[in-house]
Amino acid sequence: MKAVQVPYANELKIIEIPKPSLQNADDVLVKVKRVGICGSDMHIYHGTNPLATYPRIVGHEVAGEVIEVAEGVNNLKVGDHVVVEPISYCGECYACRKGRPNVCEKLSVFGVHEDGGMREYAVLPEKQLHAVNKELSWDEVVLAEPYTIGAQAVWRGNVEKGDTVLIQGCGPIGICILKMAKIAGATVYMTDLDEKRMDFAKESGADHVIDAGNESVKDRILELTDGEGANTVIDAVCLPSTVELSIELVSVAGNVVILGFDERPSALPQLPITKKEITITGSRLQTDQFGKVVELLNNGKLKSDGLITHRFSLNDVQEAFTFVEKNPDKVRKALIVFE
Ligand code: MN
Repeated sequence: MKAVQVPYANELKIIEIPKPSLQNADDVLVKVKRVGICGSDMHIYHGTNPLATYPRIVGHEVAGEVIEVAEGVNNLKVGDHVVVEPISYCGECYACRKGRPNVCEKLSVFGVHEDGGMREYAVLPEKQLHAVNKELSWDEVVLAEPYTIGAQAVWRGNVEKGDTVLIQGCGPIGICILKMAKIAGATVYMTDLDEKRMDFAKESGADHVIDAGNESVKDRILELTDGEGANTVIDAVCLPSTVELSIELVSVAGNVVILGFDERPSALPQLPITKKEITITGSRLQTDQFGKVVELLNNGKLKSDGLITHRFSLNDVQEAFTFVEKNPDKVRKALIVFE
């Protein structure tokens, strides 16, 4: 069978490997149908993901059909449509004991630390698969993983009904956060520099979008919130300066959620943190968000609505990666379609 491998940085190839078989009692064989291309896949491709090792079969946004189950599998059967929860963990370290396995000491992410799903077939343990409604299209369900990233950020930011939320950045992750914040009942403001991205954020339900290149985000947020600031600020731009702005624009008793991987320091004064008694929190991957997201997909409350803009066949994977890289203004989410 075919798989997409990054053998080392800046090289991408389609390799031929044996079809995997069931090894453990809880194993499930999945025929892959769709894989989303994520910014983190691009970072692995370019050698700029500090967590990835090589060679690596990429792909962590995966939807497929169950082809075979081992004898110990209880909740999945042949023919089920599933999405992959891409984390595995030790279950014993401090994070795991605290119910936060997404930051396990021995965390292994499918498609990052171990070979992922951009291949015709994959074997995964039952607990890393979630069954979705078979009536839904593959294009809808493959977005489950990016939605869980949005769900995690909203959970980490303690977003509640009636709160005001500022999301910096209208890229695909910003949009996934927006969808989950609206489901939580918040009023959502967003920022970006790109007109098309800002238009799509409005179409996707943002209450107000601020053009950060042409207007003062601070002035607009204070105006929109009657001087209070946003109760939760989620930074999906992830620059040192946007972290600083987040601290400045968050309200009293508010929450700031950090998603970035930038190692450059931000200059954070202590006074606003203490005076407003704000909570600054990181958000990485997801914990227990798949159940909620799958339910929202199944009952039609969460829809892609234009989030998928491009589809490529497996054989055109190089073209897909090149296109995504060169057209960040045109691509929201691109998929590899397996048939
Ligand atoms: Mn992703």
